[in-house]
Amino acid sequence: MKSSTLAANEGKVLKGIGVSPGIVIGKAVLLERQRTRFIPRRVTTRQVISEVKKFKEAIEKSKGELQEVKERILEKGFTQHSYILDVHLRLMEDRMLRDETIRMIKEDLVNTEWALEVTLDKISEAFDSIEDEYLRERKEDIRHVVERILRNLTGREPQKVEDLEEDTIVVAHDLSPADTIQLNLKRVIGFATDMGGRTSHTAIVARSLEIPAVVGLEDITAYVGGGETIIIDGTQGAVIVEPSRATIKAYQLRQHHYRYLERELLKYSSLKAETQDGYHLTLEANIELLDEIPSVIQYGAEGIGLYRTEYLYLSRKTLPTEDEHFHVYKKLAEEIAPYSVTIRTLDLGGDKFASHIDLAEEMNPAMGLRAIRFCIKEKEIFKAQLRAILRASTYGNLKILLPMISGVEELRQVKVILEEAKEELRTKGVAFDPEIPLGVMIEIPSAAITADILAREVDFFSFGTNDLIQYSLAIDRVNEHVSYLYEPLHPAILRSIKGVVDIAHEAEIEVGICGEMAADPLYTLIFLGLGLDGLSMNAIAIPQVKKVLRRSTRTEGERLLQEILKFSTAKETELFIRKEMADRFPEDFIQCVA
Ligand code: PEP
Ligand code: MG
Repeated sequence: MKSSTLAANEGKVLKGIGVSPGIVIGKAVLLERQRTRFIPRRVTTRQVISEVKKFKEAIEKSKGELQEVKERILEKGFTQHSYILDVHLRLMEDRMLRDETIRMIKEDLVNTEWALEVTLDKISEAFDSIEDEYLRERKEDIRHVVERILRNLTGREPQKVEDLEEDTIVVAHDLSPADTIQLNLKRVIGFATDMGGRTSHTAIVARSLEIPAVVGLEDITAYVGGGETIIIDGTQGAVIVEPSRATIKAYQLRQHHYRYLERELLKYSSLKAETQDGYHLTLEANIELLDEIPSVIQYGAEGIGLYRTEYLYLSRKTLPTEDEHFHVYKKLAEEIAPYSVTIRTLDLGGDKFASHIDLAEEMNPAMGLRAIRFCIKEKEIFKAQLRAILRASTYGNLKILLPMISGVEELRQVKVILEEAKEELRTKGVAFDPEIPLGVMIEIPSAAITADILAREVDFFSFGTNDLIQYSLAIDRVNEHVSYLYEPLHPAILRSIKGVVDIAHEAEIEVGICGEMAADPLYTLIFLGLGLDGLSMNAIAIPQVKKVLRRSTRTEGERLLQEILKFSTAKETELFIRKEMADRFPEDFIQCVA
């Protein structure tokens, strides 16, 4: 529920897309970028000349402004960002934009503002059909250019954004690149916007300037009037408006921890993920977007252990084509080689929905017709994805991972579809890796219990502990009322993992964890004891886990596990492991009191 009163906004937490990591606490400045809506107005043939003249003058004025901004930012030394302004300057000259607008004014006898808006819509539509996501999102640049021209057509003054106080957090509906770089960036410590995605320019600029940012918040401008205290958590994608003193304190601690992590832990990125007695645990990254490839490399991941492909289906009006899938997988394969990339097939449903895929409204969506069940039913959608993975497999090392497998029958059904996809490619003479490894996620209790049967028919296992905990303990993972029962250290979970790891090793297949649990360094020694072959996590978590590994031995992990398996509750295990870790790593872990 929306409310404009401050009291109601106190501690308001908004979730968006964290596009530039880090935590900052500062004062909000609201940049108004209200879009004026224009209506069509008839012009007479005599007025056409003055309308066209007005349009050309507005373009010239806009170019002049951009040129000025460009010179100023070059003076400030932000040379790498001036290219964005060059792009905008060139767009001002775009023939389609100019000629089509002028044609409309002359032939349709409409006012310039309306003609320009209609032209923008036409160009935007053409952009929507571009396959490359990055290029497609560049239509935002054209929109920003048009908005500047429209402002100059109407003679509105631009909002001054340079006189900012120290520690300002800029809140806006949207920020154009010119807006962003005009800000006094020495004083801006964070960004929060209603609009935007990972590849929007605010995101790109924020990341390269290392300013924490959260975009895609949808309605933060409705909650902020300016002057409020705001916390930006660019790592988690959260913004807190008017936090309580306790929240500020908690975030200051996190901020401290985060800075420490950045400084101290980065040096572990380039070191081997190996214990002192020579046990190597493969640490891979979980990603949702191609944009994350640089951090996969920066934090020293040895590959991608989970690429959540459902993000290819979200926030768009149509299904991704086979070629779109292919280009993404090819890029991943090429950039991550010689390491491997585990591509998880579509895992839609539960808390992940795509507007163009009609999933029936179900009482229990987490247990409904979703993920692999949906793919088996909608075979053609699934096969397009499988063909794309197969085609891309010749460009590097790809693996296929199936979500939500509940038993071997489903696996066999998928194998039949995979064979069909291979056959179709063979018929067309398209190359692919015939030995591409196929694995299943162990995230449904029935899969864990029948792991011995599954192990005979797959190349690897990957624990989806987020769901394994949800389904084993009957705790809805997105329901905050039962979140206190969501216990990764529950004996049922540890026993499930142990049982499956032993079975996997007997069958000589590899087994790892790719649920959130893998990223928690508190559990690293337990995982060592359990004998897991790999862990896949947010790339940024890798250095800390490496640190724990490099200062421990596998034997220590095994000894700890023996103790832990004797406990009856998650609480006992947590107390025990916290104490152990705080003793071993006093600088990284805080001991909790019973
Ligand atoms: C999991 O369930 O643990 C997992 C890794 O997948 P997701 O969080 O996408 O369901
Ligand atoms: Mg899952």
